[in-house]
Amino acid sequence: MCRVGVVYGEEALLYSFPEPHPFRSDRVKRFYDEVLPELLKIYPNDLVTVKLELASLEELLLYHDPEYVDFVKKKSELGYGYLDYGDTPAFKGCFEASSYIVGSTLKLVKMMMKGEVDHGFNPVGGLHHARRDRAAGFCIFNDASVAIKYLLEVVKLKQVLYIDIDAHHGDGVFYDYYFDKKLIMVDIHQDGRTLYPGTGFTYERGGGEAEGTKLNIPLMPGAGDEEFIEAWNTVEEFIDRFNPEFIILQAGADGLSGDPLTGLMYSERVHEHATSRLHKIAEERCNGRLIALGGGGYNRENILKAWRKVLINLLNL
Ligand SMILES: [Zn+2]
Repeated sequence: MCRVGVVYGEEALLYSFPEPHPFRSDRVKRFYDEVLPELLKIYPNDLVTVKLELASLEELLLYHDPEYVDFVKKKSELGYGYLDYGDTPAFKGCFEASSYIVGSTLKLVKMMMKGEVDHGFNPVGGLHHARRDRAAGFCIFNDASVAIKYLLEVVKLKQVLYIDIDAHHGDGVFYDYYFDKKLIMVDIHQDGRTLYPGTGFTYERGGGEAEGTKLNIPLMPGAGDEEFIEAWNTVEEFIDRFNPEFIILQAGADGLSGDPLTGLMYSERVHEHATSRLHKIAEERCNGRLIALGGGGYNRENILKAWRKVLINLLNL
């Protein structure tokens, strides 16, 4: 049994776009109300809640450009308009709401590096479309990208593995680390010709000295568990070539059948498979260092099923 920290607190509900936007706080609220209490009862000694923490300006600037951080702060005070071209509206307090997400993902990373927990799960983390200098696709600050910078530049790890199974390609992390050979990246997603953000093709493998450190596996709409598990075998062969010291899983639930925004047809077995396999790999090869982030998912029932599998498979090896 492993000790797992799960980010929990009402500050997690602050990151919520106005109705009828699909990314609202009822996603995480239902997880807190309907899944977490049951698991806390089953695993009273191993599952611990971790309070959200604001990222410092210095931490945001590990990855984001200062001009962009200022821009978000101003839009957050105004509370209207868009942060991008129409997917990501500004709302009052969006700067703080986003800073809490980055801060709490970082907090899990720090707790893990100190050995206070074995693994972590941030249900509101995994905002993988945000770029250094701009918001995109419901994502304001990119907590995964900030955590990667922290691990590579502050902790000075030599190699980090980021695996993204959200139905959307994790373009923010992918392109901002495209030339960085210290980030090994794997992304299984719905083919870019059929879904936002329209990227993530197999020929994109990293640039310059980072060539060969990135793996995209696009799946056509309608792909289910079988296609995912077949793709996963390729993923493990790819990972075997590297020596990552930390694994970050973006465990978006929007690939499950019935999601209103995507066309994949996974079941929660995909989340079970990915988390359990990565858990094993992390224990064997990177001192158990594995963190999971909630990512997308817009069918509320699917989110509960997928994230439940993620937590259970972090707790059990
Ligand atoms: Zn997504």
